[in-house]
Amino acid sequence: MKSKEINISTRKRLEFVDITLQINEFVNDSGIEDGTVLIFTEHTTSGLTINENESGLISDMENILKKLVPEDRYEHDRIDNNADSHLRSLLLEHSLLLPVSDKKLQLGTWQRVFFVELDGPRSRNISVRVI
Ligand code: ZN
Repeated sequence: MKSKEINISTRKRLEFVDITLQINEFVNDSGIEDGTVLIFTEHTTSGLTINENESGLISDMENILKKLVPEDRYEHDRIDNNADSHLRSLLLEHSLLLPVSDKKLQLGTWQRVFFVELDGPRSRNISVRVI
């Protein structure tokens, strides 16, 4: 088993960050030819998902998150004013378990791994474990 923390700096409040390259680099460096990779985000106002990296679709995905959980007054806002970020994270994954084959992620042609920032800009940690 090999593990690593990947740190990324996000630039916007809501942002889809394609982390496929970083994951693949680590999977390749791990030397593990076939297995699984566990990717886990350590934050309550972020998420992970798999989808296509196409600019129109990324804009659509950002808009649907805003539409499903609009900026509004929520009870948690009395603490730190980011309830919408926590609530949007309900719609995403917090960990992904993916197949590794020939020292790389075994993804479909259009599949990319996204870290989704929901309360940026911030510095974020993603735990990656190749097993
Ligand atoms: Zn909060």
